[in-house]
Amino acid sequence: MAEPVFRRLALIGLGLIGSSIARINLDGRTLAGELVACARTPKTLARVAELGIADRVEADPARAVAGCDGVILCAPVGSFADLAAAIGPHLQPGAILSDVGSTKQSVIRDVGPHVPDGVHFIPGHPLAGTEYSGPDAGFAALFQGRWTLLTPPDGADAAAIERMAEFWRRCGAMVETMEPGHHDRVLAIVSHLPHLIAFTICGTADDLADESRSQVLKFAASGFRDFTRIAASDPVMWRDVFLNNREALLEMLARFMEDAQAMARAVRWADAAYIEDKVERGRKIRRSLIELKQA
Ligand code: NAP
Repeated sequence: MAEPVFRRLALIGLGLIGSSIARINLDGRTLAGELVACARTPKTLARVAELGIADRVEADPARAVAGCDGVILCAPVGSFADLAAAIGPHLQPGAILSDVGSTKQSVIRDVGPHVPDGVHFIPGHPLAGTEYSGPDAGFAALFQGRWTLLTPPDGADAAAIERMAEFWRRCGAMVETMEPGHHDRVLAIVSHLPHLIAFTICGTADDLADESRSQVLKFAASGFRDFTRIAASDPVMWRDVFLNNREALLEMLARFMEDAQAMARAVRWADAAYIEDKVERGRKIRRSLIELKQA
């Protein structure tokens, strides 16, 4: 049996992502010999203890990270600056500090200054999720066959990067490293903009007069339903993602609005070829995703 990646690992945040990692560790302790769970509310801490997915629960992040050789921030990215300030002085030399946040430049900005000398800071982002949140939402297969992107700062320790890569491979993920700014632009188009559109379209439908709103819900099967699944995601997490990837998200939104205008023009002028071409492109993208087993 391989040694666990970490002797003692602290997860700060035990929602969908953190509790999935904890569940993976239950089977053979391949990730951590000892797993410490930290969350904000007594309710979540009690639920994690009840589920039995961690060896110990801690309300205080500083106490949670003491003596750990691995720490992973699994809370919403807007909380990272305060969390990093709280745990920074308690991180032990040689430990790895990582995260699973959906934005990467902001994490480096907010966490980086609190990382003491001798601690390896290796930010990461598993590209896996569902619209559910909280400690009951996690499941061990969440990262299976999905990508995890690591965005280590220049000069990061190669052995620490490899250790985090091994951590994610043991979670079933495929791993790649990426420059943080590039990560934020890519994620703006593949994840953040689609969520923005889903939240917006649900709001638009909800703003309609009462009678048409009930019709919208009754006949939701025709496309709207898929948007409502995405729009069911956690409000705090997504507020933080939008506010922490502002520039890239606004740039992608501007490009999207130009393209939406072009489509509106095609509809107005009955440009059938343009419309057909766009729909065909959409189908091709869907087929490629299925071939890559990412659908
Ligand atoms: P989640 O299910 O909403 O859980 C968030 C967890 O963070 C909860 O345990 C919460 O504790 C804890 N938390 C919040 N503020 C905290 C604080 N100040 N100190 C300590 N713990 C705190 O969230 P999630 O979906 O797992 O997302 C976690 C992170 O993963 C986010 O940064 C997100 O961007 C990233 N991510 C999410 C997805 C996705 O699809 N969901 C995918 C990839 C990456 P309480 O319950 O006690 O408040």
